Formats: sequence, structure tokens, C-alpha cells
Amino acid sequence: MSERRLRVFFGGTFDPVHRGHLAAAEDAYEALQPDAFSFLPAGDPPHRRGTFSTAEQRLHMLQLATDPWPEFAIDEREMQRSGPSWMSVTLASLRAEFPRDALALLLGQDAFNSLPGWHEWRQLPELAHLVILSRPGETRDYPVSLAAEVEARGIDEPSLLRQSAAGRFLPLTICPHAISSTEVRAQVGDPAALRTLVTEPVADFIEQHALYQR
Ligand code: ATP
Repeated sequence: MSERRLRVFFGGTFDPVHRGHLAAAEDAYEALQPDAFSFLPAGDPPHRRGTFSTAEQRLHMLQLATDPWPEFAIDEREMQRSGPSWMSVTLASLRAEFPRDALALLLGQDAFNSLPGWHEWRQLPELAHLVILSRPGETRDYPVSLAAEVEARGIDEPSLLRQSAAGRFLPLTICPHAISSTEVRAQVGDPAALRTLVTEPVADFIEQHALYQR
């Protein structure tokens, strides 16, 4: 029997995508050796008031940033759907499209810690594996409901992801890059600082479109 394919999806708002996201994606790609790797930008994030740039602008910046990496794709389904970007709906749609493949949602430790606040969160591991990017020193501050799931579903070996289509939690320690989109938005007035946080084409785009000006 041929081995199950592994498809990884890196979810986020990417407002804008920064060098920390790209480094994390590279580390995860290296560790997981997936058959496919896609950034999964949120359309209308339900847990936020809104985004600072439009979906089209966020998508365009992701295209500019990932252009040098042929192994990185962008899955636009959350942007094409109207209404809130519930992850349970997104994963159900991915599951319908790839019924036999192992699917893995990649997310940061901070996002994972807040999982019990997500819409229909208990559905998520039924639909995909969760791979949690932990930066050294980050707290694994789980609410009790999540700690029980971690206990039951945790694995520590990436190759085990291909043994089932969904249902496992894998922590992945990555090289830390202390960059956030919040910091990028705060640095738009400083061209040199901006370019240490985002790639050159993304910085050019931010400046040309006067994004994130207060
Ligand atoms: P904001 O500052 O607006 O909250 P962010 O930098 O956290 O944004 P998101 O688009 O919310 O960016 O992040 C997408 C995913 O990437 C999340 O799961 C987040 O935890 C993770 N992430 C963000 N920054 C980093 C980083 N520097 N290293 C590793 N993972 C990161």
C-alpha cells in the first residue's frame, strides 16, 4: 500500500506576512517533509474586529513573499468564502477535497493555547492533525479541556502524521524570530526597520499602497 500523502496548511491573518512566518514555514517544511504546503490566509477573522488591510492586499503580499519558494502554495478558500472564516468549516472543506490524505493545520503556540475559544473547536482534530509551532521558552498554558486533548492526542514524531488522516497533536520546536505583524504595522514609518521584518517586495508594496498608516 502506498504511503498516505501529507498536506500542511499554515493558517493566519498575515496582515502582513513577515519574516517570522516565512522562517517558521521553512522550519516546519524541513521537519515535516510534506507532499504539499500551503499558507491559508483568513478572509474575515471572527476573533478580531477586522483586518488592517484588505483580503486582496494580504493575499498579494503573501504572493510576493512566497514567490522565491516554489514549495509554498497559497490556499485562497477562506478569502473566497463570504462570512467569518471558521476553521472548522475550512477544514471540513479541505477534508471533502482530500478525503484520504493526512491533513495538518500548522499554528503558533499562542493560537493553539486559545483553541477552546474557537467556533466548534472539538471538530478540528476530527478533520486534521494540529502541528503546534513552539518557540523555545513559550508557555504551554492549556485550559483543562485542552490539556486532556493534548494528553490523549499528543505525538512527538513527525512521521506518525502519515499514519492517520487526522487526530494527532504534534509540537514542533522552531528557531525563534521575535517578529509579529503588530510590530510590522508599528514600523511602517521606518523603511530600514521595515525591511528587517518583511521581505523587500512586501516592504515596497506596503509603501506603494501606504498601508498601516495611522
Ligand atoms: P498579530 O501581531 O497581528 O497578532 P501575527 O504576527 O501573530 O499577527 P498571524 O497572521 O496572526 O501573525 O499569525 C499566523 C500564525 O503564525 C499564528 O499561528 C501565529 O502564532 C504564528 N506566528 C506569528 N508570528 C510568528 C513568528 N515570529 N514565529 C512563528 N510563528 C509565528
